[in-house]
Amino acid sequence: MPKKVYDDDKLRKRALELRRKGYSFRQIANELGCSVYKAYELVSQYEKPSHRLRQAIELADKVEKISSEVETLTKKLEELNLKASKIESMEDLSKKLSELEESLTNLNKSLSKISEKVSSLEDEVERISDDIQWIHLSVERRILKRHKKCIWLDEDGFCKIMYFDKRIEGLVMRPEEEEGKIIYLLNVKKYPLICTACPYYESEETT
Ligand code: SF4
Repeated sequence: MPKKVYDDDKLRKRALELRRKGYSFRQIANELGCSVYKAYELVSQYEKPSHRLRQAIELADKVEKISSEVETLTKKLEELNLKASKIESMEDLSKKLSELEESLTNLNKSLSKISEKVSSLEDEVERISDDIQWIHLSVERRILKRHKKCIWLDEDGFCKIMYFDKRIEGLVMRPEEEEGKIIYLLNVKKYPLICTACPYYESEETT
């Protein structure tokens, strides 16, 4: 490619005009359609040392400004890194929430099983309650109700056919003589459950 030939005198005039207006070498090069080096070559020899000093100071200011911007960017980068680390913490939190959710699901399953057991226990309690009621009615009929009272129950609550050869310690018993020997009658009114299942029950009403 052939080297470009410039009309230096013509270009210099225009370059110096632009330089006076404060254009940089690059801006002058763009305006004139030449290289930055060419723009420098045209102008630099006409610039005073004081002007160059001012340029150096401006350059130093720019370097300082760029340095300050780099510092600001570094701080922003650090903040971004900190935020990124928090995002990692959020991932941990999300994992823990997931584990907690799983635990709650398991807890719900356990509660459901407990609820089933409680329901079955309620049925059992109801059955026992029915039995107790039946026992109560049975006791009431066999011992307490006058017209259905067992014929073998005496006025003091002792069963006349429920007797023992020996006194049983801790039970309410009454000794009686029977054919020359001592027997012990049991006070069933004190232990009414004995009467509820007794096969010898006979109602006064039926006699
Ligand atoms: S129900 Fe049985 S135990 Fe009770 S008084 Fe009658 S015979 Fe005795």
